[in-house]
Amino acid sequence: MANTRVAVVRAEGYRSSGLRDAVGRALDMIGGLERFVSRGAEVFVKVNLLPPPSPPERAIITHPAFTEAVLSLLREITPHITVGDDVHDPRSFEVSGYRETCARLGVELLNLREKGFTEVEVDGAVLDKVYIARALLEVDVIVNLPKLKTHSLTLFTGAVKNFYGVVPAGLRTRFHGDHPRPAEFCQLLVDIFSVARPALTIMDAVVGMEGAGPANGAPREIGLIVAGEDAVAVDAVAQSIVGLEPLRVWTTRHAHDRGLGTGDPAEIEVVGEEMASVRVENFRLPPAAGEALGRLPRILTRWATRHLQARPVVVLERCVGCGACVRACPTGAAAIDGGRARIDRRSCIRCMCCHEACRYGAIELRTDSVARLIRSLEAALQRRKR
Ligand code: SF4
Ligand code: SF4
Repeated sequence: MANTRVAVVRAEGYRSSGLRDAVGRALDMIGGLERFVSRGAEVFVKVNLLPPPSPPERAIITHPAFTEAVLSLLREITPHITVGDDVHDPRSFEVSGYRETCARLGVELLNLREKGFTEVEVDGAVLDKVYIARALLEVDVIVNLPKLKTHSLTLFTGAVKNFYGVVPAGLRTRFHGDHPRPAEFCQLLVDIFSVARPALTIMDAVVGMEGAGPANGAPREIGLIVAGEDAVAVDAVAQSIVGLEPLRVWTTRHAHDRGLGTGDPAEIEVVGEEMASVRVENFRLPPAAGEALGRLPRILTRWATRHLQARPVVVLERCVGCGACVRACPTGAAAIDGGRARIDRRSCIRCMCCHEACRYGAIELRTDSVARLIRSLEAALQRRKR
């Protein structure tokens, strides 16, 4: 029996004048915006602005036009709105278009680190305490605006993973080093989500990212808005749309098992578009084999992590020696040698932080032949199920 409702609404593009109406329709289908935000409430709108700076057309970030559509509806209810994420390069706000958008709308734009972080206790599977951005703890309502994307470590990044950005950057790097296995790392993501839960999630699936996400994949037109009170259910519906089985995506599985939301499609009422009419065919997954790892007996996971999970490889012709990968690497496996990046395979834990940090496409993810075989078998199985 359905115990949560998720709206799926078509949106023609970011320039379309109908985007605001489409967001409004999605919200009406789940009870209207005022069900989640009371008049005059203090609201924090968490967008996804992945460092380093990138323009919206690369589909790495929540598109500012999408955020603007949500903000224009929110402003009818409350003037107390802050938009933000944690960015280490202040140019992120200019390059992404958020500085201009928020200035034009008269909405505060905040780099989370400016207000600092507060230690909070977590009844978690991995963490018992964590630092969370103070800006989120001080408001009445958190509105979550994730982007639908693949992720080379966690397979999918959307509503739940969007909250990884609310912990300090140094801690994020350390967490990658301390918890390199995807299943355990996703428990940690769910721990963080459990203490920074949004009242409302509206996912930017107008143009998503497929392939080697979250930063080096390809934009993929999906043309949808996915919205709901339950962030886990929003992820589950989005995952179903792109052909993933939600309960085989670690973040969704863990959050569902821990009662933090509904990840089982059988328990979700989808309103708006029929699921069969919005499914995305041949959506490309990242070369990492997170799903395949999840299907193996525990005893085989060490072997599998080594052989099935993609590893970063520097493409020397594209590397400009900027060092962003070195700064992102939690183990010191990435270094600059002779003006180009180099990765020490023995100390690399395959966290994909360097791949995420490189804006030159100079770090590719490669898998061995066994992993490629397993992934093509998985893809064939998925096609047969549809
Ligand atoms: S691999 Fe990418 S991030 Fe690393 S130094 Fe080269 S260009 Fe910079
Ligand atoms: S080299 Fe890249 S994938 Fe390997 S540990 Fe460093 S950041 Fe992670």
